[in-house]
Amino acid sequence: MLDQSCASARPKFLADIMLGSLARWLRILGYDTVYDNQIEDDEIIARSSRECRITLTRDRRLQQRLEVSRCLMIENDDLFHQIREVLEFLGHDVSPERLLTRCLRCNAPLERVSKDGIRPQVPSYVFKTQSRFKRCPVCQRIYWGGTHRQNIYQRLQARL
Ligand SMILES: [Zn+2]
Repeated sequence: MLDQSCASARPKFLADIMLGSLARWLRILGYDTVYDNQIEDDEIIARSSRECRITLTRDRRLQQRLEVSRCLMIENDDLFHQIREVLEFLGHDVSPERLLTRCLRCNAPLERVSKDGIRPQVPSYVFKTQSRFKRCPVCQRIYWGGTHRQNIYQRLQARL
Protein backbone atom coordinates (compact mmCIF):
# COMPACT_ATOMS: atom_id res chain seq x y z
CA MET A 1 0.00 0.00 0.00
CA LEU A 2 1.13 3.54 -0.67
CA ASP A 3 1.88 5.63 2.37
CA GLN A 4 -0.31 8.66 3.13
CA SER A 5 1.93 11.24 1.52
CA CYS A 6 1.92 9.23 -1.69
CA ALA A 7 -1.78 8.48 -1.71
CA SER A 8 -2.85 12.08 -1.27
CA ALA A 9 -0.91 13.50 -4.20
CA ARG A 10 -1.83 13.45 -7.87
CA PRO A 11 -0.14 10.39 -9.36
CA LYS A 12 3.40 10.87 -10.58
CA PHE A 13 5.32 8.59 -12.87
CA LEU A 14 8.77 7.39 -13.72
CA ALA A 15 9.02 5.80 -17.15
CA ASP A 16 11.71 3.26 -17.92
CA ILE A 17 14.08 3.75 -20.85
CA MET A 18 11.85 1.87 -23.29
CA LEU A 19 8.92 4.23 -22.75
CA GLY A 20 10.16 7.62 -23.92
CA SER A 21 7.19 8.30 -26.19
CA LEU A 22 4.71 7.37 -23.51
CA ALA A 23 6.55 9.64 -21.05
CA ARG A 24 6.28 12.55 -23.48
CA TRP A 25 2.56 11.99 -23.92
CA LEU A 26 1.97 11.75 -20.19
CA ARG A 27 3.64 15.16 -19.90
CA ILE A 28 1.36 16.45 -22.67
CA LEU A 29 -1.56 15.14 -20.60
CA GLY A 30 -0.25 17.05 -17.60
CA TYR A 31 1.21 14.22 -15.52
CA ASP A 32 4.48 14.68 -13.68
CA THR A 33 6.60 12.08 -15.48
CA VAL A 34 10.31 11.52 -15.02
CA TYR A 35 12.15 10.09 -17.99
CA ASP A 36 15.88 9.64 -18.37
CA ASN A 37 17.23 7.34 -21.05
CA GLN A 38 20.42 6.74 -19.04
CA ILE A 39 18.79 5.76 -15.76
CA GLU A 40 19.81 2.45 -14.13
CA ASP A 41 17.33 0.06 -12.54
CA ASP A 42 18.69 0.72 -9.03
CA GLU A 43 18.11 4.43 -9.48
CA ILE A 44 14.60 3.82 -10.84
CA ILE A 45 13.74 1.81 -7.73
CA ALA A 46 15.26 4.36 -5.34
CA ARG A 47 13.69 7.36 -7.03
CA SER A 48 10.29 5.75 -7.37
CA SER A 49 10.23 5.12 -3.64
CA ARG A 50 11.74 8.46 -2.61
CA GLU A 51 9.45 10.56 -4.80
CA CYS A 52 6.30 8.39 -4.57
CA ARG A 53 6.36 7.70 -8.28
CA ILE A 54 4.62 4.88 -10.10
CA THR A 55 7.16 3.20 -12.35
CA LEU A 56 6.01 2.42 -15.86
CA THR A 57 7.96 -0.44 -17.33
CA ARG A 58 7.99 -3.16 -19.95
CA ASP A 59 10.70 -5.07 -18.11
CA ARG A 60 9.47 -8.01 -15.99
CA ARG A 61 12.74 -8.23 -14.07
CA LEU A 62 12.42 -4.61 -13.02
CA GLN A 63 8.75 -5.11 -12.20
CA GLN A 64 9.65 -7.93 -9.83
CA ARG A 65 11.97 -5.65 -7.90
CA LEU A 66 9.36 -2.95 -7.37
CA GLU A 67 6.52 -2.82 -4.88
CA VAL A 68 3.31 -3.92 -6.59
CA SER A 69 1.54 -0.65 -5.83
CA ARG A 70 4.36 1.38 -7.34
CA CYS A 71 4.60 -0.33 -10.67
CA LEU A 72 2.49 -0.53 -13.80
CA MET A 73 3.57 -3.08 -16.35
CA ILE A 74 2.88 -1.71 -19.83
CA GLU A 75 1.72 -4.54 -22.07
CA ASN A 76 1.06 -2.86 -25.42
CA ASP A 77 3.45 -1.84 -28.18
CA ASP A 78 1.13 0.78 -29.62
CA LEU A 79 1.57 4.21 -28.07
CA PHE A 80 -2.11 5.09 -27.83
CA HIS A 81 -2.87 1.74 -26.27
CA GLN A 82 -0.12 2.44 -23.76
CA ILE A 83 -1.69 5.80 -22.91
CA ARG A 84 -5.01 4.04 -22.45
CA GLU A 85 -3.42 1.47 -20.15
CA VAL A 86 -2.18 4.27 -17.89
CA LEU A 87 -5.49 6.16 -17.89
CA GLU A 88 -7.43 2.98 -17.14
CA PHE A 89 -5.04 2.14 -14.31
CA LEU A 90 -5.71 5.57 -12.83
CA GLY A 91 -9.41 5.60 -13.64
CA HIS A 92 -8.87 8.97 -15.34
CA ASP A 93 -10.18 10.51 -18.52
CA VAL A 94 -8.20 12.99 -20.56
CA SER A 95 -8.58 16.30 -18.81
CA PRO A 96 -8.58 19.11 -21.41
CA GLU A 97 -7.63 21.81 -18.94
CA ARG A 98 -4.51 19.89 -17.94
CA LEU A 99 -3.21 19.47 -21.47
CA LEU A 100 0.09 21.22 -22.10
CA THR A 101 0.58 22.36 -18.53
CA ARG A 102 4.10 20.89 -18.21
CA CYS A 103 7.28 21.36 -20.21
CA LEU A 104 7.71 18.46 -22.62
CA ARG A 105 11.47 18.63 -22.25
CA CYS A 106 11.94 19.24 -18.52
CA ASN A 107 8.66 18.03 -16.98
CA ALA A 108 8.42 21.28 -15.00
CA PRO A 109 4.98 22.88 -14.52
CA LEU A 110 4.62 25.82 -16.92
CA GLU A 111 4.06 29.33 -15.63
CA ARG A 112 1.78 31.85 -17.26
CA VAL A 113 3.64 34.86 -18.61
CA SER A 114 2.41 38.21 -19.87
CA LYS A 115 2.38 38.71 -23.58
CA ASP A 116 4.56 41.79 -23.38
CA GLY A 117 7.37 39.97 -21.63
CA ILE A 118 7.97 37.38 -24.32
CA ARG A 119 7.78 39.39 -27.53
CA PRO A 120 11.41 38.82 -28.66
CA GLN A 121 11.17 35.11 -27.96
CA VAL A 122 8.37 34.11 -30.30
CA PRO A 123 7.86 34.50 -34.07
CA SER A 124 5.96 37.66 -34.92
CA TYR A 125 2.99 35.85 -36.47
CA VAL A 126 2.62 33.88 -33.25
CA PHE A 127 2.82 37.05 -31.23
CA LYS A 128 0.09 38.60 -33.38
CA THR A 129 -2.26 35.65 -33.40
CA GLN A 130 -1.92 34.22 -29.90
CA SER A 131 -2.94 35.82 -26.65
CA ARG A 132 -1.92 33.40 -23.92
CA PHE A 133 1.62 32.25 -23.30
CA LYS A 134 3.34 30.04 -20.76
CA ARG A 135 6.98 29.56 -19.95
CA CYS A 136 9.03 26.70 -18.56
CA PRO A 137 10.85 27.98 -15.46
CA VAL A 138 13.72 25.55 -16.13
CA CYS A 139 14.56 25.80 -19.84
CA GLN A 140 12.68 29.08 -20.50
CA ARG A 141 10.93 27.60 -23.54
CA ILE A 142 7.73 29.48 -24.43
CA TYR A 143 4.50 27.59 -25.07
CA TRP A 144 1.35 28.89 -26.71
CA GLY A 145 -1.60 27.78 -28.67
CA GLY A 146 -5.20 27.14 -27.74
CA THR A 147 -5.70 25.60 -31.18
CA HIS A 148 -2.80 23.24 -30.64
CA ARG A 149 -4.36 22.07 -27.39
CA GLN A 150 -7.68 21.57 -29.13
CA ASN A 151 -6.02 19.49 -31.85
CA ILE A 152 -4.28 17.28 -29.33
CA TYR A 153 -7.50 16.80 -27.44
CA GLN A 154 -9.36 15.78 -30.60
CA ARG A 155 -6.59 13.44 -31.63
CA LEU A 156 -6.70 11.74 -28.26
CA GLN A 157 -10.47 11.52 -28.27
CA ALA A 158 -10.32 9.83 -31.66
CA ARG A 159 -7.61 7.35 -30.74
CA LEU A 160 -8.26 6.43 -27.12
ZN1 LIG B 1 11.58 23.12 -19.92
